[in-house]
Formats: sequence, structure tokens, C-alpha cells
Amino acid sequence: MKGKLSKNDAMEFEISGVEFDKVKKFKKDHNCSLPDAPKRLQKLTGEKKRQGAIGGQYSYSFTPTSLGTAVSVRCACGNERNVTEYESW
Ligand SMILES: [Zn+2]
Repeated sequence: MKGKLSKNDAMEFEISGVEFDKVKKFKKDHNCSLPDAPKRLQKLTGEKKRQGAIGGQYSYSFTPTSLGTAVSVRCACGNERNVTEYESW
């Protein structure tokens, strides 16, 4: 996780490497209370998209500190996980 100031003084954050893997793992293995919603919708609409129709299921937060940026991912079901790769600090 690297936070940097761009030319336009905007803040940019990216999730990559180990953190991205942790996000993928979280999406797959957290005890989600909303697992059937996309499937149900898929049956109704016959679409193969899993999340596109709903969207916004996951949100991310970035907390810059003097050492590095802490990252966490939160699902709409309320589960949240810290995915910060402290070893890169
Ligand atoms: Zn969930």
C-alpha cells in the first residue's frame, strides 16, 4: 500500500500485492450474511454477473499514519477486515 500526492494535489491510494490477495480472500471466506442475494438476482434475471447488478458491496478505507497507510475492507453485511501489509512499512 502506497499513498502519494499526485500533481493535482489529489490523494491516490492503491491496493496491490499481498493486500490485494487479502481483499480477495476476505471476499471469498468471510462469513457473509448476504451470499444469496447475487445468486437470487442471477436466477431472476438470468444474468451471469455476480455483483455488477448490485454493486457497492465492498468499501475500502485508507488511514495514513506516519509509518504507512492502514487499509481495511468492509462488506455491506457488516464484516470488516484489516488487510494492511505491515511488512511493507
Ligand atoms: Zn459480507
